[in-house]
Amino acid sequence: MSERIPVMRPWFGPEEAEAAAEAVRSGWVAQGPRVAAFERAFAERLGVADAVAVSSCTTALHLTLIAAGVGPGDHVVVPSLSFIATANAVRYVGAAPVFADVDPATGNLTAATVDAARTPATRAVILVDQGGVPADLDAVRALCDPLGIVVIEDAACAAGSTLRGRPAGAGAAFAAYSFHPRKLLTCGEGGMVTVDRPEVGARLRRLREHGMSVSAADRDAADRGGAAPMLETYDELGFNYRMTDVQAAIGLVQLGRLDAMVARRRELADRYRRLLAGVPGLRLVGDPVDADGTAYGTTNYQACWLLLGPEFPERRDDMLARLSAAGISARRGIMAAHLEPAYADTPHAPLPATETLTRESLILPLFHEMTESQQDRVVVEFYAAAGVAADPAEVGA
Ligand SMILES: *Cc1c(COP(=O)(O)O)cnc(C)c1O
Repeated sequence: MSERIPVMRPWFGPEEAEAAAEAVRSGWVAQGPRVAAFERAFAERLGVADAVAVSSCTTALHLTLIAAGVGPGDHVVVPSLSFIATANAVRYVGAAPVFADVDPATGNLTAATVDAARTPATRAVILVDQGGVPADLDAVRALCDPLGIVVIEDAACAAGSTLRGRPAGAGAAFAAYSFHPRKLLTCGEGGMVTVDRPEVGARLRRLREHGMSVSAADRDAADRGGAAPMLETYDELGFNYRMTDVQAAIGLVQLGRLDAMVARRRELADRYRRLLAGVPGLRLVGDPVDADGTAYGTTNYQACWLLLGPEFPERRDDMLARLSAAGISARRGIMAAHLEPAYADTPHAPLPATETLTRESLILPLFHEMTESQQDRVVVEFYAAAGVAADPAEVGA
């Protein structure tokens, strides 16, 4: 029996282990100099004013909503077609999520679907780059900016993706990233907020650390320098959403691998597209294109997301079961929050594209160290599960 093929596996080398060990040996393991270095490196890589590290993308979204002034009585437009954390964050601040439908080609909100869902109480939109496919932030901002609606980008999946030549998230007032092991770049758990104004970054740093006016790291630096002790004040309700220096040490190494990760994923995704071309009714979601077919962004293929059209011969859930029995960990496509019991009481307009996409899609294994022979095995089993005869000359070519 050959080894099970996972849907995702982090790519770590000895450098990550050494960086984590070095943080431990230094004696500074909580938020400190390595978090600050990771933030600077991330902000530089994205070309943004500031980056603030936090404990996850979920807590990143929570803090951005607070910083955007969203609270009880406000509506926030979100896609239902997203990991549930996107909608949950809206409820953390006492606001109401309003589900908007998505573009069936990309799985993302568009200016038109946001416009259809907004109400007089809409204060913000959370635009998700689903599966790493960049949403059209420019078009959504062209709608929202004149209306005073803040656009927050949930770029949890989109480190290494681009929109019109810029890193995904770099054009937003706030963008939130995840470093969970299901994402490209990981440090176990962790998140980052990027912002376009330094003063917003300073507020986010206070909010993530109990609302303290002076960080523990700054107080320690003052003590070591022999300066007068710095006395902190607590000016607003804060949280403990800190990242540790052990995580940041790993994150810094991973950031240096990002280009290689994206390049390898794009290569493997193109190979999947070629090898699966013989399956009727199948589409692998790739770079977003405008009306004349020109790509306006690039995806990092965070997810190898397949849409099963009407001509596809099998039911999605049967495909998942057969692939699993063959030792291949595939996953259902992106979830839809409005279909979950936690959102049963949330009213919403019809969401036809969302419901089709969540029902008729699945995610295939794709990870940096995946070999071509592992990928061939997935392809062979996929043809078998779909009951389609494969052209053996194609596989392994
Ligand atoms: C993974 C994910 C999150 C949550 O990220 P965590 O770091 O696990 O909190 C939020 N939004 C989207 C779109 C995601 O894919």
